[in-house]
Amino acid sequence: MPELPEVEAALKSLRRRVTGRTIARVRALHPSMQRTLTTARARALKGAHILRVERRGKHQLVHLADGRLLHAHFRMNGEWVYGRITDEDPRWARAVFEFTDGTRLVFVDSRALGTIQLHAAGAHPDLALGPDASDSAWTAGQLGEALSKRRGPIKPALLDQGLVAGLGNIYAAEALWRARIDPRTASRLLTVAQVKALRKAIAVVLDRATGARYTDDSTVHLDVYDREGLPCRRCTLPIERMAQAGRSTYFCPRCQLLAGASPLPRAARP
Ligand SMILES: [Zn+2]
Repeated sequence: MPELPEVEAALKSLRRRVTGRTIARVRALHPSMQRTLTTARARALKGAHILRVERRGKHQLVHLADGRLLHAHFRMNGEWVYGRITDEDPRWARAVFEFTDGTRLVFVDSRALGTIQLHAAGAHPDLALGPDASDSAWTAGQLGEALSKRRGPIKPALLDQGLVAGLGNIYAAEALWRARIDPRTASRLLTVAQVKALRKAIAVVLDRATGARYTDDSTVHLDVYDREGLPCRRCTLPIERMAQAGRSTYFCPRCQLLAGASPLPRAARP
């Protein structure tokens, strides 16, 4: 699943390829796309000029010169493919944007869960996003303030885009491992030191991400995600996996401590 660094990488290439272009034709190729990009809406995009491209959390926003907004979200598998309008449609092509200069942009998505919506000028969606996870102006103090009002454990809280925008299942687990915080810790019980460590860990794991197409790319270094049974890179105890809010959470049972819990001595662990 694309996470913030991958979406940022996709957005940079999108910005470079489509800014300043004029849409000649839009084709919605899959029923899931045709629900939002109806024939009428696709036709109404003819002649639209692309002003600028912006990322908010994992949402990609394409601003048109007339004030309308194309709002794309990759969800699980989406990606952009570029080419010429004379090229054959790639496998899993869901929507094709053809430009007047002969280039084109294709939304490819094998699982057809990604979305593209068109919003009228002045009717842009309220994405209800918290601060961007990659924003250097976002402070530990702000994170601590938001967490102090939360019920429930820290790991699902980090996935709430209203708390912080852009963090997904992979980097939430990586950040908690790095900050040595048990994913089950009640959000509002994190100490000031833990919140500071967490804010810093989020910055480090996002900075280190390569922006490779997908995070399971072999070039991506992960410390804890998808490493169940493998030795913790810090203490060598096997990484464990549990389910939280329907998602897999990977953690080290020794390094990542619950508030108030004391570590078991090494000899007591299997
Ligand atoms: Zn460990």
